[in-house]
Amino acid sequence: MNMKRLLVIFIAVLFNGALTAQPGSAKGYSLVTDLEDSSATIRSLRILLDNPDVFSVTSPDKNKIRKNRGGLIILLEKKSNAVRVKKQAIQYARSRGTVVMDIRTFAALNSLPLHSVAINNMIVKEESPVTKGYKPGEPVRYNAQGKLFGLRSGTKPKGITVLGESEGGEMVLLEQRKGKGKVIALDMLSMPEPQYAKDSENKYLFLVNAIGNGVNYGEYYPRRYHYPEFVELMEEVSKNHPAVILKKEGEGTGNYGIFSLNMGNPENPGILIYACAHGNEWENAYGAVTFVKYLAKNPDQDMIDLKNYSLKIIPILNPFGFENMTRQNGNKVDLNRNGAYAWEEFKGVDPENYKPGSYDWKGTSPFSEPESRTLREVVQTGNFIALLDVHGNPSGTGYNKWMGVAKGSRPDAYEKGKLFKEAFNNNIGGRYILHQKHEKLPKEFLIETIMKKEPTPNLYHSLSDNRYGFIVEILCGYSSTNFIVMQSDIMCELCAAFCKTFTKQ
Ligand SMILES: [Zn+2]
Repeated sequence: MNMKRLLVIFIAVLFNGALTAQPGSAKGYSLVTDLEDSSATIRSLRILLDNPDVFSVTSPDKNKIRKNRGGLIILLEKKSNAVRVKKQAIQYARSRGTVVMDIRTFAALNSLPLHSVAINNMIVKEESPVTKGYKPGEPVRYNAQGKLFGLRSGTKPKGITVLGESEGGEMVLLEQRKGKGKVIALDMLSMPEPQYAKDSENKYLFLVNAIGNGVNYGEYYPRRYHYPEFVELMEEVSKNHPAVILKKEGEGTGNYGIFSLNMGNPENPGILIYACAHGNEWENAYGAVTFVKYLAKNPDQDMIDLKNYSLKIIPILNPFGFENMTRQNGNKVDLNRNGAYAWEEFKGVDPENYKPGSYDWKGTSPFSEPESRTLREVVQTGNFIALLDVHGNPSGTGYNKWMGVAKGSRPDAYEKGKLFKEAFNNNIGGRYILHQKHEKLPKEFLIETIMKKEPTPNLYHSLSDNRYGFIVEILCGYSSTNFIVMQSDIMCELCAAFCKTFTKQ
């Protein structure tokens, strides 16, 4: 082998190394702190940083910190401790490192006065890897119960970029270049841990963005759209991207059209994903559109080969419910109990009072509803290998981290489901923490279980013959789009993992 060829291989290996530093795979973090190990924040950081080396500020192992190249996190409560880490932080950053530090320490090290800031939303000022998912001017819901530490505008020293401000213009998220690296500063202590509906779910968003395991696809939507506006959104995607075909599949209750977004030749084997069969589980519809947009903008994506496979996504199966924030359709029928499978036996969660209008009313007969019939028509006339029904528990009290395998699926569906679950978890792992009401402590967001429940007349049971059929429940049911970046990100990862699992041999 000649030297030139060796050099080519060497360079290829180098590049390959850089390219394989994919989200989810970054490791080697150091956390220097003066907090007790039992602190909730340290517990969360241990999850997000995938078991970092944690050092007390009084006894850091400088060599080990230097060798951990994932990033250095400095979290100090006491101002007087800042001086102990100064030299190390600067050295680490200068050698191409990323240092994320609490703003208290940052202010002390730069001799800047710290201020208590009233804040509900952080306004993004700059597009940057740290603010990924948001564009300048967009608000990040950021509830520190009214107060957060920040710096007054006008005190900005040289070399600092303001990435985020409070609504009143105080600086709360900063980046400082140091040699070939950078220091990111923000308040990491004032906000409560990410808990469902406590408005603190974005607490670690910038931290995970800064260390390279953050938002992958998620994007911001300013508010919950009315159904006609959502249809306009889909029309726009199709208009801007010739590879995306918008198709009207049928008409639901309330005279709302049911639409799908389509990619690839429909005669090729296809993937079908539908969401929002329960109208109040509305966020997944936005993530579905974000996913289609991503595929259209990135023809080299490796999730689905659109020359040999097709994709159909119905973001909203229940437009009436979406518009009116109801679980049921316009006839008060729970569409996901309107399938033929186990319809006869099904008597609802409250059998004594089971009647039209009940929470999970199954309708007057299987497929009595126009939305269910539309879906059946789509499945039966298409050439689908696999279908995925996406839900979520809108109270945060139930499980938003599980999946189910359809009855009547192909014999190896459970095994394939495990691969799908693994693919999703590998991608999303270490990115989001979520504490739901029934859980004792905040946990990493993952699909935790493949649930084997007594089957109810879910549509996916009735439509999966000789296909792979799955249902997944992910986080949804908020009253606003405050967390839509995280939610659309999770939905996109789910769709990506699904497409990959069922189109790659
Ligand atoms: Zn549901």
